[in-house]
Parts: sequence; structure tokens; C-alpha cells
Amino acid sequence: MTTIYSARWVLPVSAPPIELGAVAVEGQRIAGVGSHAEIVARFPEWSVESFGEAVILPGLINTHTHLELTALRGYLENEERDFFAWLRKLTRARLELLTPDDIRVSATWGACEAVRAGITYVDDASDSALMSMMALRDIGLGGVVYQESFGPDARLAVENFEKLKIKVEELRANETTLVRAGVSPHALYTVCAPQLEMIAKFALEEKLPLMMHAAESEAEEQLVREGCGVFAEGLARRSIEWKTPGLSTIQHLKRHGILATRPLLAHCIRVDNDDIDTLRIYEARVAHCPKSNAKLGHGRAPLAKFLERRVTVGLGSDSVASNNTCDILEEARFATLLARAGGSDVSAARILAAATSELKEGSQADLAVVSLAGVHQLPSYDPIATLIFASSGRDVILTVVAGREVYRDGRVTTVDEERLRARLNEISEKLGRG
Ligand SMILES: [Zn+2]
Repeated sequence: MTTIYSARWVLPVSAPPIELGAVAVEGQRIAGVGSHAEIVARFPEWSVESFGEAVILPGLINTHTHLELTALRGYLENEERDFFAWLRKLTRARLELLTPDDIRVSATWGACEAVRAGITYVDDASDSALMSMMALRDIGLGGVVYQESFGPDARLAVENFEKLKIKVEELRANETTLVRAGVSPHALYTVCAPQLEMIAKFALEEKLPLMMHAAESEAEEQLVREGCGVFAEGLARRSIEWKTPGLSTIQHLKRHGILATRPLLAHCIRVDNDDIDTLRIYEARVAHCPKSNAKLGHGRAPLAKFLERRVTVGLGSDSVASNNTCDILEEARFATLLARAGGSDVSAARILAAATSELKEGSQADLAVVSLAGVHQLPSYDPIATLIFASSGRDVILTVVAGREVYRDGRVTTVDEERLRARLNEISEKLGRG
């Protein structure tokens, strides 16, 4: 199939904005990016769809999600001031109240929300990774689904690692060209050091991408640096021995092989200059989740320092249980405002580059079209400023993943959203009863 999408603006991201621009798509690939006149002259036989006062940009990338937790949106508001209680209620809901089919519905609803917001690729960490992978496949969303691993007790490390290997094998059997498998040791307070080492080695040998929560909360910092705080107390109550390394999270992950996998690390709030340099040297990527961090009261990650010191940063919504939306344009706006509130200068163009990739000939046709015609957006003097500071995912009118239109005219084209909505209502009624 061939199509030309044209609009008032095309943002290649890796090149300056093109006024009256167009993108030509052939099958799963981008065949050309340029001015409308140039693209139509190059492909004279192709049909042209014009979006008028809109911007075409590369699909947005959400580098940290837990789509399986979408049914928990708004479910944990009363626990948010107490991270330990928050994690406990979330874990109970996931493990005791939700069936595998509920989790699949929850993840699919989350994937609908993502494509509706122009997101074409997610890095999704999941305890029920196969359900999340099926959700991505059903919606036509691309990404990596990272099977989570837990186990703070070193006596159970081998057993827990073997369980992970079985789940990853199953996940890999269901990979597609768009959806790949990865591994995620959850966090240093839920995974003991020997298990971290086994998972790191496995990820390297099997060429599996690795994601992990890192340097997120005060409780985590207290545990790793001083062996005290609520996580330390929780482990002690369960008679789990945990040797305090007396290091920062990042140095702990370096010591136990995680950084050698060039991991994707979510949050990275509590990092000093040495940690930031370590992240760059090891080519770790940071999933910056400013809204979730703020909502849970964890603090602010040093975004401007990451950018200055050339650490690769993407934006993540985290789960909607702590956000409460999966919307990377909103996240980009919030990230920029928050950095500036702290006295750092982060530009709209720089944050856009963190939120997406680039539109260029030959690459996979992942793109989003965002209307710039709303009352809340006009007048517009600069398309990037309007996109970042006056738009949200709700202004998206078309989302294309690998050449396939998965969201158009207010509808996700790949699933029956009304049937999903009915199932989600059943699930939320069940969760509400507790
Ligand atoms: Zn997370």
C-alpha cells in the first residue's frame, strides 16, 4: 500500500520543520519526507491525504509503562503518600484479585490509550508479560515487553531465575517483528544481588534488552546506602537477610553486572554526578518519568544534567496507577516545565527529541498526526512550541505503526473498544469491592 500524508507542518525531528510538508509511506516503510510539492512530484500516482492545520511527527515513544496495571488507574490514590503501602495494595490486586484475562483486558485498554495519544512504541515491564505482549499485538503497537523478576531472598535466587527463564522462553515464542521480549529485574529492594547477576549474564548471553527501576524513592536510597528505612524493615519482618552495600543504586547495579547490559533504567532521581557519568560510560538509557515521580512524591530527576552530560534520555509515563494518564506529549510538557521551575533550561525541541525518534526515508513508518487547529492551540507561531506547550495526546488524529493505521477518526481500528470498555467496567467493579 502507498499513501502520501501531508500537513501544514512535518517535523522530521533530526532536521528543521518543513512547512507544507509531506511523508510518503510504502508498506511498512517511509519512502520519502519533504515538501508537499517535492513528494507529490516524486510519487505522482500515489493518493494524497491532507490534514491541513496539523503536524506530522515520528511516533511518540513511551520508555516506561506497565500496561497490565491500567485497570488500577485511580485505585491507589489514598496510598500514594506511603510507597510501601502503595506497592503492597498494587501487588495484592495484581496477584489475588485479577485473573489472567482481566490483566490482558487491562493491558489492551492501556495499549488503546497509548495509540490514541500518538504512541507507536512502548518499553513495557510486566509480571504477566505474555498477556501484555498479546495486548500490544492485538492493538498493533510496537515495543519491548520485559518479563519482570522478583526475589529479595538470596536463598531462592536460583529458583526465581529458573522461573524467569521459562517465562522468557514462552514470551520469545510469541515475538513478532514489532514486539520483542526483554527482562526486568524489578528493583534492587525486590531482587537480591545474586539474582541480579544471573539475570544480567542471561540478558547478555541471550541478547535480551533489560529494564529496571533505579534510584526512585527515598526508601530505596536508605536501604542501599544505610540498610534502614521501610524497605529494610519489610525485609527484616520477612526474615530476609540483605547485606547493605553502602553504595548508591547506580554503583550497586554496576557492581552486580546490570550496567554491562546497557540497561534502560526507570526514574534515576537519586543520582549524583559520579552516577551520571557512570550511566554515560556504560551507555545506560534513562526513562525519565516526571509525572509519576511527582505524584508519588519521589522528587525530580536531574533532566538537564542528563542532557548536558550526554546520557540518553527518553520519557516514560510509568503505570497509570501513578500518573494517571499515558500521554507522552503531556509528559514532555510537564518535564520541560518542571526542569525550568528548577532553574534549568530545557527547550521544546530538545524534549521533543527525547519523546520520539525521527522521520527519514527508509525507516519504519511510525508516525503521528496531531491537529494544531484547536481553540487551545491557536494562534501558533512555532509548531514545536505549540506541540509541546499547548497540545496533548487528545489532539492526535492519526497514529500509524509500521505503515498500519491503528488509530483514526477517534477510533482504534484494530479492536472492539466497546467490548473492552464493558469488560473494564466489570474489572473495576470487582476491584472496588476489594
Ligand atoms: Zn515502573
